[in-house]
Amino acid sequence: MDPQSVRGFLSAEEGETLARLARVYASRGALVEIGAYCGRSTLYLGQAARDLGALVFSVDHHRGSEEHQPGQEWHDPELWDDVAGAVDTLTPFRRAIRAAELEDVVVAMVGRSAAIGKAWGRPVGLLFLDGGHALKTALEDWRAWAGHIAPGGLLAIHDVFPNPSQGGRPPFEVHQLALASGLFSPCGALGALHWLERVG
Ligand code: SAH
Ligand code: MG
Repeated sequence: MDPQSVRGFLSAEEGETLARLARVYASRGALVEIGAYCGRSTLYLGQAARDLGALVFSVDHHRGSEEHQPGQEWHDPELWDDVAGAVDTLTPFRRAIRAAELEDVVVAMVGRSAAIGKAWGRPVGLLFLDGGHALKTALEDWRAWAGHIAPGGLLAIHDVFPNPSQGGRPPFEVHQLALASGLFSPCGALGALHWLERVG
């Protein structure tokens, strides 16, 4: 199943790059994604993981980011749950995972990413960071998750725009923090996807 047939924001080139990285870094620890939306990036990761016999842990509260809320730039009325009175991406996410035959590969963790990060307890081989882009949320994710990345593991950040005219700053600022920490060295970039390897 083509992940691009699922609603989402990752380009095909970014997705294929993410899948390639997952194949390399799965041997170093768990594959974790922060920010699934309707499952597009999850499918890229899941298809790579299935071939390796690995799992993908996919974290999202499935209530949408700021920009997905009513009246905001990326609001999609088809993702509105009238009963909850809230955005719901969990239903389309589960449909996509099922349609792609990845129910045995993808483990959905539904909740606030920073809270899950604080409770998480095993080395991460690849952390795909694509959750909330508000500065507070991005920093909370960085604090809660960066320390779980195994030495030799990878931090892949989406929506890194070095030029502010192209997009919001928080993912870029987290990228800068990762570099300044001395714990990560830059490995590559494609589109708005930048990846860094944990040193040591
Ligand atoms: N990776 C997806 C896009 C993710 S969009 C793709 O490939 O298209 C960002 C997602 O982060 C949204 O689904 C939103 O619900 C989630 N999110 C935002 N803040 C969050 C938080 N604090 N905890 C958990 N999920 C969050
Ligand atoms: Mg993104």
